[in-house]
Amino acid sequence: MVRFHRIAGCTALLLFSLSFALGQEKSNEAVERRIDALIKQMTLEEKAGQLAQYDGLSPQTTELLKKGEVGSLFNILGAENTNAAQKIAMEQSRLKIPVLFGFDVIHGYRTVFPVPIGSASSFDPQLIEQSERIAAKEASAAGMKWVFAPMVDVARDPRWGRMVEGAGEDPYLGGIVGAARVRGFQGANPADPRSVLACLKHYAAYGAVEGGRDYNTVDISEQTLREVYLPPFHSAINAGAATVMSAFQDLNGVPASANHHTLTDILRGEWKFEGPVVSDYSSVNELTVHAVAHNQEEAVQMALTAGVDMDMADGLYGKFVSDLVKSGKLPISVVEEAVRRVLRAKFKAGLFDHPYTDPQRAQTEMLAPENLALARRMAQESIVLLKNENGLLPLDKQTRNIALIGPLVDDKANQLGSWVANGRAQDAVTPHEGISSKLPNHNIMVSRGVDLDLRGPHYDSGATGAAPAPSTATGAAGEAASGPNSIDDAVSTAKKADVVILFLGEASIYTGEASSRSTLDLPGDQQKLLEAVVGTGKPVVLVLESGRPLNIQWANDHVQAILQAWYPGSQAGNAIADLLFGDAAPSARMPISWPRTVGQIPLYYAHKNTGRPTSPDRWHTGYQFESMEPLFPFGYGLTYTSFKYSNLQVETPSIASSGVLRVSADISNEGKREGTEVVQLYVHDRVAPTSRPVRELKGFTRVTLAPGDHKKVEFSVNANDLGSYDPSMKWVVPQGTYDIWVAPNAIEGEKAEFQVTN
Ligand code: BGC
Repeated sequence: MVRFHRIAGCTALLLFSLSFALGQEKSNEAVERRIDALIKQMTLEEKAGQLAQYDGLSPQTTELLKKGEVGSLFNILGAENTNAAQKIAMEQSRLKIPVLFGFDVIHGYRTVFPVPIGSASSFDPQLIEQSERIAAKEASAAGMKWVFAPMVDVARDPRWGRMVEGAGEDPYLGGIVGAARVRGFQGANPADPRSVLACLKHYAAYGAVEGGRDYNTVDISEQTLREVYLPPFHSAINAGAATVMSAFQDLNGVPASANHHTLTDILRGEWKFEGPVVSDYSSVNELTVHAVAHNQEEAVQMALTAGVDMDMADGLYGKFVSDLVKSGKLPISVVEEAVRRVLRAKFKAGLFDHPYTDPQRAQTEMLAPENLALARRMAQESIVLLKNENGLLPLDKQTRNIALIGPLVDDKANQLGSWVANGRAQDAVTPHEGISSKLPNHNIMVSRGVDLDLRGPHYDSGATGAAPAPSTATGAAGEAASGPNSIDDAVSTAKKADVVILFLGEASIYTGEASSRSTLDLPGDQQKLLEAVVGTGKPVVLVLESGRPLNIQWANDHVQAILQAWYPGSQAGNAIADLLFGDAAPSARMPISWPRTVGQIPLYYAHKNTGRPTSPDRWHTGYQFESMEPLFPFGYGLTYTSFKYSNLQVETPSIASSGVLRVSADISNEGKREGTEVVQLYVHDRVAPTSRPVRELKGFTRVTLAPGDHKKVEFSVNANDLGSYDPSMKWVVPQGTYDIWVAPNAIEGEKAEFQVTN
């Protein structure tokens, strides 16, 4: 009976899927027919216009809108404003093709979630998806139908300021997180008025810029490109991402925005991606600066031919495409294919049916209570507990005298992080506010100690001077932090307290675009403040807020407890207070390897073995006066209990013939509090045609257990995903012995081995 029901259920599901697929195919065909019909009617100028995207609405752009020569606009906020611009396109242009409105919604629109590296630290794709759903609702209520996110660039160099915008160093984690963000933005149907189109950026390999200097050259092997930098894009495309953005930088001698190999051979040829690629801001024009194009006209011809369908901000497609076609330098078929992709995205976004946004929505959807509740939970899950000596945390709520010290204690703007869309400093809860509202009757003393060094992103290069005014791209306009600021004051405040909580880190303008650093040191006088406060002998908890790992070797040796908070967003102070006082327990994990010194960079767990990995004598890999190991490994993070791993089982039924590797282990909570463990699965192929990383993440799952409880955790990995590229770039799954770990981080764990056979 049961069996019958299951079969009947399966059949019904199959029939439903089949009819859904058929229905989908029919509607796709109908859309393609409508696109054909439109293309037939379009003049060459209208076609070129669809490929142009402009920043804001100038009088000149308004004229182009009337002529139907604008494909997309960005940085226009508010339904009233986008509707007004849309009205021009819909009522005054000949063919009434709606405009696609875009914006950078990097970690929330008005409700600001933790910066992406923070939310990635949660290893919680479901929650990430929900947070992007909220971002999509708010952004679409403000008239957006396209967000320039997620950034899925793998980042292995913390000097690079844009590490803050991604999911860290690992291609597998990056792919899972990227796909979750896409699902969140686009929802079940991107045409839903509350959904937006996602845009994967920056294609490709932007995270590999030399020296961590933004926009710099990238020169990597095809194998590294395919095994490290491309997988998150591929995974997010498989999740349905509608659009892609081409990157600024040079890639193996051919700038990413003129790179036919990545944009056409791989993206369209191998992955069958059908959406449009938009250039990064003026990256088509920059082909002349990279000096692969003699002039702007040639830059347009190169970019479009390589596979960049839409030109962001510099207006060059609008200016040169028709002449290029007329002079025979650019085939009309290339232009029409690009137009087709842009129109396809507009149909996918439902713009032909719903070109306008209901202006009422913003009133109820911005900062809705459920948005803030989710922002608080996402922030709790994004903060990593790095150290907790003698169980100092969670702090006892009976502790009466609490000193909050440091430049970030009361700073609203810097809780939000870089690139905060329409987030406002006034909406952010500071650590002082969060702790005070949790413990209203405690003696909470505040001292800033030192000022946050706001000399700006070029501080390291020796340039000094006034801080540049924060822009929407680099941070919310802030209120000055309050409270006395001298190290002496901080020390005397600390002396009066039972416990000190220090809030140190980087101003958010230190991270993000064009914010590379040459050191990871705490900016300004914060190290002095740290040492002076620790010198009081009081118990100290250090809460770090930054977009990258900082040099905390000294702190790690001298401070009892350390939390890496990243920039937690609108609900920062509440989430930090929840974790500090045990109303929530930390569960986040490092999505990067935390270096001891800047000299170890690049540092990542999935490195290859050298020919001399260890040795009894000095002739092996390493540094003369520094360990090769990270301060904290990838995947690392503590909570308020401890877990035991046991009973690792590996089942490998003929996995080379498209089978599945099944792995299980028992996890038990050995402590006295409930806790969540991020259980990780790593694999290592012992002998392969190309050298393999010492470990590669192939799975992870969050497990919440009550004290004394245990659970069998199961993983399954497709055999094909165990493979690698051979020297001719053919994907192979080598036979032989593999190592496997079920582990709490990238250097520990229960280990076994298995065989891959045919
Ligand atoms: C950034 C992109 C961003 C674009 C539009 C560029 O400078 O690199 O990430 O989406 O500007 O604002």
